[in-house]
Amino acid sequence: MSEPRKDQIEAAIGEYQDPYLETDLLSAKAVKSIEVNEGAASVAVELGFPADGYKPLLEKELRARIGAVEGVTEARVEVSWKVVAHAVQPTLKPLGSVRNIIAVASGKGGVGKSTTAANLALALAADGARVGLLDADIYGPSQPRMLGVRSERPQTTDGKTMRPIRTLGLVCMSIGFLIDEDQPMVWRGPMVTQALNQLLSETDWGELDYLLIDMPPGTGDIQLTLSQNVPVSGALIVTTPQDIALLDAVKGLKMFEKVNVRVLGVIENMSTHICSACGHEEAIFGSGGGARIAADNEVPLLGAIPLDLSVREEADSGRPTVVAQPDGEIAHRYLEIARRMGARLSMLARDYSRLFPKISIEDN
Ligand code: ADP
Repeated sequence: MSEPRKDQIEAAIGEYQDPYLETDLLSAKAVKSIEVNEGAASVAVELGFPADGYKPLLEKELRARIGAVEGVTEARVEVSWKVVAHAVQPTLKPLGSVRNIIAVASGKGGVGKSTTAANLALALAADGARVGLLDADIYGPSQPRMLGVRSERPQTTDGKTMRPIRTLGLVCMSIGFLIDEDQPMVWRGPMVTQALNQLLSETDWGELDYLLIDMPPGTGDIQLTLSQNVPVSGALIVTTPQDIALLDAVKGLKMFEKVNVRVLGVIENMSTHICSACGHEEAIFGSGGGARIAADNEVPLLGAIPLDLSVREEADSGRPTVVAQPDGEIAHRYLEIARRMGARLSMLARDYSRLFPKISIEDN
């Protein structure tokens, strides 16, 4: 039998469309090396998104494809992953040890933005990423409750930096740790930006692949100021399929566009209702809305989460669905959305600023 050629192996790999990258691994520049030695093919793949759960499936898939190439007697495939820092708004500097900040936003309140942010953070962590969650929803900081750490307060060791709360495999900080949840507070725009900048810069986040920010809902001055001042690699928009929520979600998309923040995708929440008694699925808020605005604005629809009693109950009890029922259908959907988000980000421009020396220009 003749020795298989490298281009035959490449062609076999190229036929596989990665479901998260939505392209093949060669086009995504994920194939690091291909070696052929006396019929034994060794392939190394490095994905740019967390993939502990996906890795064995991908290895199996590629082994089968490469093993089917004529002349291949053994197929060795090794998949690894690494999250790198991606570019932020041109006018801002990325945050030191945090590789990527992702803003989770919604055009209006009550659409499930915080629930989605918590579950996505947990899904990224389940795939092996180092993840932080910063609750900046000043109108109703709910992350401490959802992550079961409502009674905790961040500590400081040196009086200057705060240690984030560790919970469920994440690190977490919240504007809610600094204010009393029962105390209604009127925060003016500049105060929020200052408070958020302080939470970002004075928290000892450690090395993180992703820091998700649960943004205040809406598209007003506060949100605009935040999206101009926080160095983010991308944004996610959460919406329900209701027309009114969709209109506001489009406003959110446009706002990020204006300030040069890439929208990584739209997530449709409460897309259908699944009856907890009989399992019947119904589109009570209409259907297809998320897909429509995603298509109209040329951003992907990353996925849809049904309106399901367990999602609310689990979030309320401090153990969101991804950790409460990790093998369930809804956790699976969150995992898929998180991987698509990570994959989408991995295809965007990297941040090269940390490779260059800092140049500062001062007036004197
Ligand atoms: P927002 O952050 O957009 O204001 P929340 O995440 O606080 O919204 O969600 C509002 C309410 O809806 C909460 O009680 C939450 O538990 C519930 N909720 C969110 N998503 C779902 C869902 N997919 N199914 C059922 N309840 C949900």
